Order: sequence, then C-alpha cells, then structure tokens
Amino acid sequence: MTNLIDGKTIAEKVYVDLREKIAELKSRGVTPGLAVVLVGDDPASRAYVRSKDKMSRELGLHSVKLELPANTTQQELLGKVAELNRDPKVHGILVQSPPPKQIDEAAVIRALDPRKDVDGFHPENVAKLALGDETGFVPCTPLGIQRLLIESKIDISGAHVVVLGRSMIVGKPIALLLMQKGKGGDATVTVAHSRTKNLEAITRSADIVIAAIGRAHFVKAGHVRDGVVVIDVGINRVEDATNARGYRLVGDVDFENVAPKAKAITPVPGGVGPMTIAMLMSNTVKACRQSLK
Ligand code: NDP
Repeated sequence: MTNLIDGKTIAEKVYVDLREKIAELKSRGVTPGLAVVLVGDDPASRAYVRSKDKMSRELGLHSVKLELPANTTQQELLGKVAELNRDPKVHGILVQSPPPKQIDEAAVIRALDPRKDVDGFHPENVAKLALGDETGFVPCTPLGIQRLLIESKIDISGAHVVVLGRSMIVGKPIALLLMQKGKGGDATVTVAHSRTKNLEAITRSADIVIAAIGRAHFVKAGHVRDGVVVIDVGINRVEDATNARGYRLVGDVDFENVAPKAKAITPVPGGVGPMTIAMLMSNTVKACRQSLK
C-alpha cells in the first residue's frame, strides 16, 4: 500500500521542537531574528517572503521584512546586507531569489556573513557541507528532504538514491547530504541531469527517486520500480480552467501514475514545500544558538 509522506504533519513536529528551543533562548534573554530581503515585486517571490515572515512571527522570532524597489542598485543592496550583517538582533539573513537583473546574486551571497547565511548558499557553507562540518548551514529544501526521509523511517543507509537535477539549491546539496557518513546519509547517490543517457534505466534501479527538475509530471510509472520511495520537489504551474486562479501547482512526478508503484511518495503541494520553510526556521534558531558560543 502506498504511504503518503505528509510534509505538513512532519513540519508541525519540527515546529514543536523549535518552539522549545526558542523558549529556552528567550529565557536566556535572546530572541532569534530572521531578516528576509525582497528586491522588486515578483508575485511568487512576494508570496514566499510573506509566508516566511508570517511563520517567523508565529514562532515568536524577531522578524525583519525588507521590501526594496525593483530599481534598487547593487550598491544599495550590499549596503543593506552590511547593515544586517552588523545587526546583533538578526541571526539569519535571506535574500529572496531571483533578484532583478541589475543585481549580481552571487556577489550578494558572498557579501552575507556566512554565520547568518541561513539559506546555505555562501561558498563557506557549501564547503562545510562538502566537508561534513556540521557548523555550516545546509540549504533548506535538501535539509527538509532528508528530514522527511528520516521521520518517515525510510532506510537511507545503503539505498540507491537517484537525484534528478543538479542545481545548487536542490540537486547538488541533497546528493552531498545523503552520501555523507552517518545518520541520514550513507546512501549510494546517482545524480542525473538533462544530458543523462538512458535515464529510465537509471531511475528504475533506484530505491529512492528525488525529482527536482522543474518539468510538470515528467516522472511516470515507467521511470520507477515497484516499492520505490519518491520525493517530488517540483513546483510547476499548469493551466486549470476549473481553478479560480486559472492554474494549479503540480510536481515533477505524475502522482496518479506513479503512486500505485510507490512504497511512499510526497504529494505536491503538501510534501517538500512545508519542510523548506520549517528548515529555514530551524537554521535561524541554529544560527542564534551558534552566535552565543
Ligand atoms: P533548476 O532549473 O535550477 O535545475 C533543474 C535541473 O533539472 C537542472 O540540473 C537540469 O539539468 C535538470 N533537468 C531539466 N530537464 C531535465 C530532464 N528532462 N531530465 C533530467 N534532468 C533535467 O531548478 P531547481 O533545482 O531550482 O528547481 C527544481 C524544481 O524544484 C522546480 O520545479 C522548482 O520550482 C522546485 N523547487 C521547489 C522547492 C520547494 O520548496 N518545494 C524549492 C526549490 C525548488 P541541466 O543542469 O543539465 O540543465
């Protein structure tokens, strides 16, 4: 029988644990602080920033939401980042991606204090992930995927994991995380991408398939074997006249087609998405705790 991996329920569990840690920090006179910076008015980015700010407030964090106009210059943005780097009330900083085209995103990431880089994109944190140094910050989506697998009691150790996609946000960091030695790791990982040959043969040999390619309903029943575990990272808009918004969100996996073969599978929405934001909160609390050491 297919087991639905419910990201909302698992995220709630994360929040129970975080609330305890936040209360403990507050009893010592410290409130974890998260600053989210949005440049421009992209509707999807605005919605992401709103939900991050809302969750910070719900958890009682010090939340700074900085909304800058679309014509903000690189210099102005770097100035804001420097201010936030210096602000002792702010332990985590996130600059919402993608910024407008006049902004050099990589330079902005490099300007972040790596100790406050709760998105885990600064080169120092990327290196720490590769080195297995746990003081670093791991990007939120891969961290959330690993937590989903652990909480769902999926055997990662020794499993063949096939990751579809090699981005710095999902594909590469999830591969590094799951191949690490120890708890939540020890997997044999294959990373596939748009140039991969014989993709179906590779994915059919997987115990766990993680799809992060941004192609609606790409993964079909023919890609997987019976008893596979499927993590669907994709968030894709498809037209839907029956929906008031005119579209609906679907994953990279054709859920109806694949679910009957799967031992466990994440839905979209309600799978990886809720975990991404939970891990952002978790990284912020970690940044705050580490700042006290
Ligand atoms: P990118 O566009 O940065 O990367 C996509 C990757 O998929 C690339 O490595 C690309 O290969 C590979 N790819 C594209 N087409 C194919 C194909 N036909 N076969 C095999 N590989 C292919 O995307 P992201 O990693 O940023 O995001 C992936 C998806 O996850 C998106 O739908 C995004 O919206 C979603 N997402 C969801 C999050 C969440 O919280 N749930 C968070 C982040 C992303 P190549 O390198 O060769 O071009």
